[in-house]
Amino acid sequence: MRLVEEKSRAKINLILDVLGKRDDGYHELEMVMQSLGLSDSVFLEKIEQEGILLETQGPAVPQGPENLAYRAAQLMQKAYGLSGGVRIRIQKEIPVAAGLAGGSGNAAAVLLGLRRLYDLCIPEKELLDLALTLGSDVPYCLMGKTALAKGRGEELEVLPDCPHLYVVLVKPLFGVSTAEVFRAYDQGTRGPKPSLRDAILALWDGDGQALGASLGNVLEETTCAMHPVIRQIKAYLAQKTGAYGALMSGSGPTVFSLYETKESAFAAAKQAKRLFQAQTFLTETVQQGEEGYGLPL
Ligand code: ATP
Repeated sequence: MRLVEEKSRAKINLILDVLGKRDDGYHELEMVMQSLGLSDSVFLEKIEQEGILLETQGPAVPQGPENLAYRAAQLMQKAYGLSGGVRIRIQKEIPVAAGLAGGSGNAAAVLLGLRRLYDLCIPEKELLDLALTLGSDVPYCLMGKTALAKGRGEELEVLPDCPHLYVVLVKPLFGVSTAEVFRAYDQGTRGPKPSLRDAILALWDGDGQALGASLGNVLEETTCAMHPVIRQIKAYLAQKTGAYGALMSGSGPTVFSLYETKESAFAAAKQAKRLFQAQTFLTETVQQGEEGYGLPL
């Protein structure tokens, strides 16, 4: 049987802004996204038995239809009348409920993997529409790289490649519910607005230092109000480790920091692991087709 493997990369938000709430209840977003070397592996193969067989590890990862990867497969089977069943095995490395698009990336990998496995000819726009029904980060996860995502997350623009940087990820041992963070945001707990213009200029200039100075996430203060340790982690990474900048990713709770050299990133990751009760990773920014690494400390 043919086995297809897709990488499901973690992402960070270099910028996350909420422009408003739409009539349909969704938030209008503006996000600069970046893929990392840290990734899950998603393996797919056809099986004779109808349905979906999902295998994954980790107590926090749903095993059945609540798994976004399972839902992505269901969607593809229905939309394209796929015959037989499919076995999906997910090797998880990305922490769960972390703001790193673990679930969204897995779902995007299933969409791409099934397209390959069944040799389907699906126009990009159609795949993007399917992706959006699964979640607002899923369309971006189909393409990865450095990109601007607007609307609910489906309006994607390629940006100049982020300069190659080393990235430290510090994830406290609790997870965060994205829906809960948006509810608190709607009730008025909000951080300062980031400058998209500054971030894009820094990308155009390939200037890591300016990029670090332009990082901003309007949800950061919202999640910090619920979990003040995030503020401490960010202050430490931003002020004590020689980082270009530090920020909470997505709705949190993971905080990332950016470095020019692997040595300074490694030292920061080691110190952060010692100081905070947190999962810590050393990884790097990657562009399409690049492998990159993501190592737990
Ligand atoms: P997003 O993927 O929407 O950017 P996130 O990175 O904050 O969100 P996830 O790791 O996707 O968080 O987890 C959010 C919730 O989704 C978790 O509580 C988990 O139970 C559920 N979930 C569903 N499918 C998956 C999956 N394949 N991997 C991890 N979590 C999943």
